[in-house]
Amino acid sequence: MPSNDNEPARPSNFIRDIIIRDLETNRYGGRVHTRFPPEPNGYLHIGHAKSICLNFGLAAEFGGKCNLRFDDTNPCKEETEYVQSIIEDVRWLGFDFEDRLFYASDYFDQLHAWAVELIRSGKAYVCDLTADQIRQHRGTLTEPGWESPYRNRSVEENLDLFERMRAGEFPDGSRTLRSKIDMASPNLNMRDPVMYRILHAEHHRTGDKWCIYPMYDYTHGECDSIERITHSICTLEFEDHRPLYDWYVENLGIYAPQQIEFDRLNLTYTLLSKRKLLTLVQKGFVSGWDDPRMPTLCGIRRRGCTPETLRAFCDRIGVSKTNGTIELALLEYCLREDLNKRAQRVMAVLRPLRVVIDNYPEEMVEEMDAVNNPEDASMGTRKVPFSRVLYIERDDFREDPPKQYYRLSPGREVRLRYAYFVKCTGVVKDERTGEILEVHCTYDPATRGGNAPDGRKVKSTIHWVSAAHALECEARLYDNLFIRENPGDDPGEGLDFTAHLNPNSLEVVSSAQVEPSVRGAAPGSRYQFERLGYFCVDRDSTVDKLVFNRTVQLRDTWAKIEKALAK
Ligand code: ATP
Ligand code: MG
Repeated sequence: MPSNDNEPARPSNFIRDIIIRDLETNRYGGRVHTRFPPEPNGYLHIGHAKSICLNFGLAAEFGGKCNLRFDDTNPCKEETEYVQSIIEDVRWLGFDFEDRLFYASDYFDQLHAWAVELIRSGKAYVCDLTADQIRQHRGTLTEPGWESPYRNRSVEENLDLFERMRAGEFPDGSRTLRSKIDMASPNLNMRDPVMYRILHAEHHRTGDKWCIYPMYDYTHGECDSIERITHSICTLEFEDHRPLYDWYVENLGIYAPQQIEFDRLNLTYTLLSKRKLLTLVQKGFVSGWDDPRMPTLCGIRRRGCTPETLRAFCDRIGVSKTNGTIELALLEYCLREDLNKRAQRVMAVLRPLRVVIDNYPEEMVEEMDAVNNPEDASMGTRKVPFSRVLYIERDDFREDPPKQYYRLSPGREVRLRYAYFVKCTGVVKDERTGEILEVHCTYDPATRGGNAPDGRKVKSTIHWVSAAHALECEARLYDNLFIRENPGDDPGEGLDFTAHLNPNSLEVVSSAQVEPSVRGAAPGSRYQFERLGYFCVDRDSTVDKLVFNRTVQLRDTWAKIEKALAK
């Protein structure tokens, strides 16, 4: 984590408190060593960002280290594409694992040797039950399980069978290696859990070297131990696995890290499950893993979110020991807070309405001074061309203004930002449809810069672009991907979660107009379109046409008023 003295001190949390205590008691010789262990079976999402910020953040705070370790024990669902994206995403978030990039598969030899050791000491056995039978034998929360008929094989027979499993003599699923713990344990995870299964599958790193693969529970603690992790931080669903985590390191007599569980991030209107996100990609509900509506880090990044926003968000949500749901609005708040400080302001019109200023000279063009960021004077000013024909937002004109509508309407005077006061003198309509084609105004030359020397006031300031100078661009406006606050709720009637998708999550505005200062802006450049929201240049932009993603809206005061009036 890039440390920054200007960042406010973080509030403590229970994990941080544990680390502070361990440092005081010298439990790990003053070391703090964490790891982030993704399974490379999908792209990282904002839930992972929470885990990354926590693991790397705590290590950085206490002068420790954090490893990136791929938990690649399942050869079937894992791909190098995911490995690459995960590395990129962790770095983008601002964290450095230096040379500590590891793979669980790096340790397959050691894990195998330890499994043989457990067989030798009578703590593991080869079982011929099928997966279904093992499940049946396991019992329930209220009833103990019963022992496998293969449980009491001799050490010699187990060693022989395990070796033959490894050598590829048996088909997939025909045998497993199980630890011999306690079939009556109140904790189901302790009822002789499977350590190895047979899978004749190519692994993205070890190729066809192995046809037996270790299970997550058998792998994780040992990997932590090999890497001498001090605090193995994971999500709450692993709490019931902790006794097993401890059992393996204890029975192998190896260095014992400490597992600590925290709450998973859940966000309203959002699903954070790689399996479901993969479904959205595969079935074409989104354009890809980096569709700007996706909660993946690459999607959020393409949408225009900065790593600073995400880190601030993760700091703000903190960690706890019970699961809850965070409002998506909090992420939006963090976005606005960050982008407000860094985004260059420009004027753009999403739905253009032509305005002709009848008393403005035909050929005249003036360069108006505009402030790049009122929050940051160092960002300077720019010139914006003004001329006789402008575009304003269709929404900023009403022929028949409702009460409390103070923008342009017949007879009303408003301020054009950075330019002049203009007064509406009439409209031109399509005779057939009644659609307003053009608004006519006069301007007051004495109000240049936006103030009247006679002190008269206007109630509204609207943005504009010069029609002859503006660039046509595409704007992609996003809404929540799901209509339900909790899209994980069962939609019933045999439907799946995709029934909760918001059909209006993407609106493409193909002929928006933006001031010429953005010409040639590189993908990833961020702007505030004044009064409209924060926008980011998309990689789909071409030399001829910029494409913008709306990152987040500004709080729209008029929409609020209108809603209140409707009540
Ligand atoms: P998913 O359910 O999306 O597939 P996962 O937990 O299987 O997630 P992993 O790749 O195993 O994904 O996760 C890597 C790390 O990130 C783990 O330590 C996991 O606990 C953590 N993590 C995953 N999802 C979240 C989340 N929503 N909030 C916080 N941490 C998370
Ligand atoms: Mg997982």
